[in-house]
Amino acid sequence: MAIPQSFIQELLSRVDVVDIVGKYVQLKKGGANFMGLCPFHGEKSPSFSVSPTKQFFHCFGCGKNGNAIGFLMEHAGMTFIEAVKDLAQQTGMVVPEEQQSPEDRAKAAAAKAKQDSLSDVLEKAGEAYREQLKITPHAIDYLKGRGLSGQIAKRFGLGYAPEGWRSLASIFPKYDDPLLAESGLVIVNEEDDKRYDRFRDRIMFPIRNIKGECIGFGGR
Ligand SMILES: [Zn+2]
Repeated sequence: MAIPQSFIQELLSRVDVVDIVGKYVQLKKGGANFMGLCPFHGEKSPSFSVSPTKQFFHCFGCGKNGNAIGFLMEHAGMTFIEAVKDLAQQTGMVVPEEQQSPEDRAKAAAAKAKQDSLSDVLEKAGEAYREQLKITPHAIDYLKGRGLSGQIAKRFGLGYAPEGWRSLASIFPKYDDPLLAESGLVIVNEEDDKRYDRFRDRIMFPIRNIKGECIGFGGR
């Protein structure tokens, strides 16, 4: 379900973040803002401020900030939709559902499936790079020389892309799978359609999105 952005704006203009936060946190007026003990980190003196003019909360201690919807998501553990519905109920507004045509829905599903398979490809490559790092002394030495211990390498999922133009072919038997090119792992030469690994003899740093899914690599 998608909620139109205009509705979100309207909703946020009708609720007061001070009221919303005030249900969970004891707030005291301090100048133009309201202050309280941050509900997101332990503290004894208030560094959590709520601005009625900006309709925003901000903690100077831990840096958490956001609007009324964000507060409900962070503090009450609601999803975005749940938070919107909760606020809408309080203001007597009815959440409209954006009409999606079957075509749009199919398109969205296809995009999601593609994103999933891209992540799969990247995860699989990441795993292979990690294994490769373990058996490549010169890459380990390089990392150590830069002060990166095995523990750190493990924590950040660092890996190593071996030398050779088609090393990934041993991990992906279908080396001409378009997903490999789309994921950026394989380069396709436009002229002769020849394919080769983008990353060769490189330390690999996985790049992850907020959900923790691998969305690409940085190499050096
Ligand atoms: Zn805080």
